[in-house]
Amino acid sequence: EPMSGRALVVDGISKAFGGNQALDSASLRAEPGSITALIGPNGSGKTTMLNMICGFYRPDSGRILIGDTEVQGKAPERVAGCGVARTFQTPDIPDGVTVLEAVASGRYSTDRVSMLSTVLRLPRHHRVRAADIAEAERALDVVGLSHLRDETATALPLGMRRLLEVARSVVAEPRVLLLDEVASGLDEDEVERLAGLIRQLRDAGCTIVLVEHNFRLVLALADTIVVLAQGRVIAEGPPSAIEHNPRVLSEYLGV
Ligand code: ADP
Repeated sequence: EPMSGRALVVDGISKAFGGNQALDSASLRAEPGSITALIGPNGSGKTTMLNMICGFYRPDSGRILIGDTEVQGKAPERVAGCGVARTFQTPDIPDGVTVLEAVASGRYSTDRVSMLSTVLRLPRHHRVRAADIAEAERALDVVGLSHLRDETATALPLGMRRLLEVARSVVAEPRVLLLDEVASGLDEDEVERLAGLIRQLRDAGCTIVLVEHNFRLVLALADTIVVLAQGRVIAEGPPSAIEHNPRVLSEYLGV
């Protein structure tokens, strides 16, 4: 296929776990510098979609392109090497590192396993380079955590650990950033800061796919909303089209 011009293409992806069809020929296309929100009821396949894109799961069929590179079936490190970063519902932060070190370690790694190994492999004085510290400080400033830079990362409350994890993904300068429920557990102020950061990233050209339960946040942030139900895409469009779609209201909001 010729140049797609898209940052991310998911083309007819299917995945079954045993007899359970988690994704059933689901597709999405995201432009460079856009925010796509994945919504749908519990069990509709949202997390599986993120796991497919970042290489944690191998699809049974279908294609995934990052730019013009096919990545389906590639190992997570290879996919990360194509510029894909993701966050997790439960931030996984190693013991004994400061907030600043944790964020700066995002410069070296774009996958979950290597956060711990990168930080531990390096002698302490080599853990972070000056340039990486500057990047990490900027990211911490945007998420409003600068004053906590020297605190132990794991000691932060969950909401702040989520912001930390987003800041950490940001310093990896991903082309495609996958955000999994990053707003849950955040207070209103933190949600605002997070939304600001996500918009800045989008405006800098990053392509963002987010799984998010906060419908107001989705409506405020997304350029495109993709609605999943039972592993299929049942609706797709801008917030103005999705918010009044009767099928979405019944599937997603249960009304
Ligand atoms: P959502 O994120 O929309 O809540 P998921 O993608 O987590 O949905 O799950 C979709 C379906 O796939 C569910 O039925 C879930 O139980 C199943 N599933 C997801 N991951 C696994 C797994 N690793 N092993 C078995 N079943 C899984």
